[in-house]
Amino acid sequence: MTLLLLGGTAEARELAVLLQDAGVRFVSSLAGRVSQPRLPVGAVQIGGFGGVAGLRSYLHEMRVSAVVDATHPFADGMSANALAACTADGVPLLRLERPGWSNAPGAERWHWVDNHDEAAALTATLGRRPFLTVGRQSLGRFVGPLAHTSALVRVVEEPAMTLPPTWTLLMSRGPHPLDDERGLMADVDVLVTKDSGGSYTWAKMQVAGERDIPVVIVRRSVVPSALEVVADPVAAAAWVAAIGQP
Ligand code: NAP
Repeated sequence: MTLLLLGGTAEARELAVLLQDAGVRFVSSLAGRVSQPRLPVGAVQIGGFGGVAGLRSYLHEMRVSAVVDATHPFADGMSANALAACTADGVPLLRLERPGWSNAPGAERWHWVDNHDEAAALTATLGRRPFLTVGRQSLGRFVGPLAHTSALVRVVEEPAMTLPPTWTLLMSRGPHPLDDERGLMADVDVLVTKDSGGSYTWAKMQVAGERDIPVVIVRRSVVPSALEVVADPVAAAAWVAAIGQP
């Protein structure tokens, strides 16, 4: 029997350390989106399962006794698949999700939107030099509305799509120190991001506050009420200990 840890986040890597220290048998799973991922300690498998059906087969074949979904707050597809598969097969599931920024300093002044299309349309009305930190996969939603701006775009991996010639692409993986963000954001006039939460990518939010520029922020999806959720790796490790070590 083994525990499946759906990862791709700093919190998942922290939990992997705690599980290893506690002698829990587990395997971490990564989507394989980035070419040189930060790997957690312990066994790792890379690549998707093949939807809910594929994940159910995996749970069965690998005799998975419990699942911790520690994927990014915006990895909605994987989280939905985990919930569907675990519910269907009666496998205990925990969601490890860092708190969002809805109560952070300045959050009441930000422009909260429900999706990237809304973010793109609103941003077009707010500035000419937006700083897009929405992730490579969402950039396509911004190209039309912001094609004629001088957007600064930061991504971890090169986007598959061609970006407008007026955009500046920056490939860089966080965390980004505060002083670096101050320099980078000196001439941007609107920050566009999603509610990733946590401290890892907070510096840009602080700089936007210092410079008093507008922030457009995409809300998270609502977590299903049936799902048990914890906010930090220590609480997740306690949950694993409480259900009995695989
Ligand atoms: P997603 O849209 O929710 O997932 C799409 C598909 O990718 C899933 O159906 C699954 O494929 C596969 N997948 C996703 N996470 C996986 C995992 N941990 N292990 C194995 N397969 C996984 O996910 P996403 O937004 O593309 O994010 C991909 C990964 O990057 C996640 O693990 C997430 O933690 C990490 N990440 C995402 C973001 C973000 O902003 N979305 C930011 C930082 C890190 P199958 O259906 O074939 O199983």
